[in-house]
Amino acid sequence: MRIESVWIGRGGQGIVTAVYIVAHASIADGFYAIANPEFGAERRGAPVKAFLTITDYFEDSPEPIKNPDVAVFLDDKLIDTMRVVVEAVKPGGYVIVSSGKGPEEVAGIIGRKDVNIAVVDGIGLALKHVGLAVPNGPMVGVFAKVMGLPRLESIKEAIASQLGKAVEQNFAAAVEAYKTAVVIPAAEAGSAKISVEIPTTSAFLTGDYELVGWDQIPEGGLVYPGSSLRYKTGSWRVEKPIIDHSKCIMCRRCWLFCPDDAVLEVWREAKGPGGRVVRVKAIDFSYDYCKGCGICAQVCPTGAIQMVREL
Ligand code: SF4
Ligand code: SF4
Repeated sequence: MRIESVWIGRGGQGIVTAVYIVAHASIADGFYAIANPEFGAERRGAPVKAFLTITDYFEDSPEPIKNPDVAVFLDDKLIDTMRVVVEAVKPGGYVIVSSGKGPEEVAGIIGRKDVNIAVVDGIGLALKHVGLAVPNGPMVGVFAKVMGLPRLESIKEAIASQLGKAVEQNFAAAVEAYKTAVVIPAAEAGSAKISVEIPTTSAFLTGDYELVGWDQIPEGGLVYPGSSLRYKTGSWRVEKPIIDHSKCIMCRRCWLFCPDDAVLEVWREAKGPGGRVVRVKAIDFSYDYCKGCGICAQVCPTGAIQMVREL
């Protein structure tokens, strides 16, 4: 027996912990497991992948997984960015997705009829049981449901070992996901061979790229994309800040405390004396990069910022 899985999520969603929990629980059940996460200098909210192989025989030379049996997405908004992972799943394999969308809509986004699809609202369950938008526990539960391993008892033990706290809450989220995930069986058998493979470089996280010779590398050794500008980390957000300009006194505490430089100072039009339209400085947010941490709302002395649920 050999199950190869690739887990895709964002920094801060507990993806590394998720694969360690499944690996730990599988070993407790008598299997062998290799879990190797891969991430670079990405920040919280940026895409991260992790490989997990479970076998019933020992092997000591793990290769990168190119055609997984299972792809697990902790965020449905990463499916398009990481479509190569969906395309690389073996026919008859599984694509497991955390999404607040309906299962049929998720199946449409995945766009393959030769794989089984499992959908659960991982963030909703994590918020319900743990109080945090970290869907790793629910996704572990769905993995166990569709693969038939590891056992729930072993998952609880692994959660205790990996987290050391909030064990009952995380386990409850995993169990509810196990029970409630919707599984859509593959409608077609698909061809035995697939031509797409997951590239062995993490560059697949940032889109198309070309390997270049040494004499083509720009001055300073800067390589594509050169910054994390392309990572629209705001798409990971669960809540977003909304400002009531009538309460804002422009103290700029929100700007000072925002960890992602997502608070902007902009010009906006307002009614002035005599009904004249005047331009005034105002606070706004860069929703491409705001991760919804809520710090700005906490430090605002006038209560001008409210966090509003988006997902
Ligand atoms: S919620 Fe506020 S503090 Fe947090 S990233 Fe967004 S703008 Fe910055
Ligand atoms: S902290 Fe509140 S009052 Fe101060 S600038 Fe930001 S929104 Fe305005």
